[in-house]
Amino acid sequence: MNAFWKIAVIGSGPAGFYATGELFRQQTWSFKVDMFDRLPTPYGLVRGGVAPDHQKIKSVTKIYSRIAENENFRFFGNVEFGSDIFRSEILEFYDAVIYAVGSPCDRSLGIPGEGLPGSHSATEFVAWYNGHPDFCEHEFNLSVKNAFIIGMGNVALDVARILAKSPEELSKTDIADYALDKLYESQIENIWLVGRRGPVQAAFTPVEAREFLELENADVMLEGGPLELDRESQRIIETTASKDTKKNYEILKQISENNSYNKRKRVRFLFLTSPLEILGNKCVKKIKMVRNILVKRDDGTLRPEATSDFMEENADLIFRSIGYQGNPLDEIPFDQNSGIIPNECGQIIDDFKDKLLRKREYVAGWIKRGPTGVIGTNKQDAVETVHRMMQTIVQEKIEPMEQNDNFVLESLLKERNVKYVTFEDWKLLDEYEKNAGQSLERPRIKITSIKKILEIIQKIKK
Ligand code: NAP
Repeated sequence: MNAFWKIAVIGSGPAGFYATGELFRQQTWSFKVDMFDRLPTPYGLVRGGVAPDHQKIKSVTKIYSRIAENENFRFFGNVEFGSDIFRSEILEFYDAVIYAVGSPCDRSLGIPGEGLPGSHSATEFVAWYNGHPDFCEHEFNLSVKNAFIIGMGNVALDVARILAKSPEELSKTDIADYALDKLYESQIENIWLVGRRGPVQAAFTPVEAREFLELENADVMLEGGPLELDRESQRIIETTASKDTKKNYEILKQISENNSYNKRKRVRFLFLTSPLEILGNKCVKKIKMVRNILVKRDDGTLRPEATSDFMEENADLIFRSIGYQGNPLDEIPFDQNSGIIPNECGQIIDDFKDKLLRKREYVAGWIKRGPTGVIGTNKQDAVETVHRMMQTIVQEKIEPMEQNDNFVLESLLKERNVKYVTFEDWKLLDEYEKNAGQSLERPRIKITSIKKILEIIQKIKK
């Protein structure tokens, strides 16, 4: 097959790049890929979500930037699908499209007081300290003592760790400057991590949990008594538990045995507890919680069930960290319950009843499978989507459309006054940010306003 297939990829996070990489890896097919992102900067959650003290994880962008060097790749940053460019146009210009837009929304707890000032989603806080342009104006009052994080996943651990570390520990990272300044003023002493189920059911991974044993400025402890398991969890840990769960359990055992507390801050793991109400008049003052027991369901899972053992603690700052959720896109089916675009191996399902599949529209990453797994999980996921797409093209005998002029899209965007950012532009900004960080021994100093990003790129180009 000699003709080029033109593919649009919406979203420049790991899933978008792994899909692109897989397209370019094909020997007998030729692809041209245009990747769109509503932000002027690429890499999605690697830039805006991965914790600033986890720089090693961010080195995965080297792979993505190599993919972007392919002569058949173009990046259109600062172009929003559904407002700067529309589905009908994408389907007109491209043979197929892969939506890799992630799960940008947070889930709410649905308890009274959740909307009080001082109660936030972890999503907002993570985006804020990572310098995401949409969140850099957010305010978090860190001049308080007691922070609660609801949830026991890796995002909850990220938030707890950022609050627990000293600003000096974070000063050599690429944390947003304004967040670092704010953390220098932090008065936070108690950082509670609240999980509705037990230690064996915690969603975090051991590498992340172990970091709490090495904090310079914070002790870590287990709340609610010694580490004891219910009978079923005990059975699981002795038999079917995964390696990670067993390691988590060992780390938590170590934490529970620690009884020397002499650091300024404390991270308190509290299992088997659910928040019931956030109390306060003008802002968060207290949190009311209930202790849970675990009850085995018919499907074998252990679910939390509230007891009549209530507790109330002083709380000034609350972060709910109970998972992300996808956002519907214009003219694309969306499953409200699971927060994903319904699909079969990455091919969008238009109608479940008749199993109607969209022939030219695909999904990859969190919007395809939900917010699970680590960055690498997206590779396999994207590979599956790309192969499903090629299989459909063959089965349905879809011919590549006549090649549109490469510049039609650019003219359209210019006509609309959309100031798009190319990958070459991004590389200029990337260098600029890295240079700015160099004398301070920081990986980079992030520019966090879109206006400023565009100005800097223009200035360097002149
Ligand atoms: P997650 O791993 O799904 O954890 C969500 C947590 O929220 C679970 O502890 C869950 O408890 C709890 N939860 C859910 N609904 C709740 C409710 N109504 N009340 C109380 N608790 C509730 O989600 P995440 O932490 O947002 O992470 C998303 C993905 O990104 C994960 O795959 C994660 O591993 C990954 N990630 C990885 C890293 C890293 O590798 N360093 C860093 C950040 C994120 P139940 O188990 O009881 O449902």
